[in-house]
Amino acid sequence: MSSAYTESLNKLIEEFKKLPGVGPKTAERLAFHILKAETNDAMKLAEAIRDVKNKIKRCKICYNLSEEPTCQICSDRRRDKELICVVEQPKDVISLEKTGTCRWVYHVLGGHIAPLEGIEPDDLTIEQLIERVRSGNVKEVIMATNPNMAGDGTALYISSLLKPTGVKITRLARGLPTGSTIEYASGKILTDAIIGRQQLD
Ligand SMILES: [Zn+2]
Repeated sequence: MSSAYTESLNKLIEEFKKLPGVGPKTAERLAFHILKAETNDAMKLAEAIRDVKNKIKRCKICYNLSEEPTCQICSDRRRDKELICVVEQPKDVISLEKTGTCRWVYHVLGGHIAPLEGIEPDDLTIEQLIERVRSGNVKEVIMATNPNMAGDGTALYISSLLKPTGVKITRLARGLPTGSTIEYASGKILTDAIIGRQQLD
């Protein structure tokens, strides 16, 4: 805290500093930018932040981000509801959708199993996925968890639970570099991985 600033300016700088990739210098620059901006423009930013926190919920079917009880993908009649693609995070849905090759619906787990970080299967939407597969006409479950240890482990755990249902279980092809994440894979690599997906035993 510098006493050269007013209390509210200091507060704004402190909040900006909490953002990923924002150091003290950038935080200061952003705060002064807001201070100089038109009141209307600055308020639009404040409102956008409030709306994101107040309006965005989880889709009751797939747990993706949604402002309605059911997300746009689940509500889309052209989607093949017999195919469920399982991802860790909403960001992965965005990456896969950008390829333009997906006609399936999703299931967002909310992370991966990581006992060392205190994330157990019950903390994810795994039970809801099993229930979805049991109660619906699902033909194939495509595992699109990240191709790293935690993602692979989570996919294996889920497939062991799904096996008794008899549903076909596939995994995105291994064109994705091991240890990488869906979020940062290029569209071309993701498309190849989707087309070349392989059955999990
Ligand atoms: Zn949905």
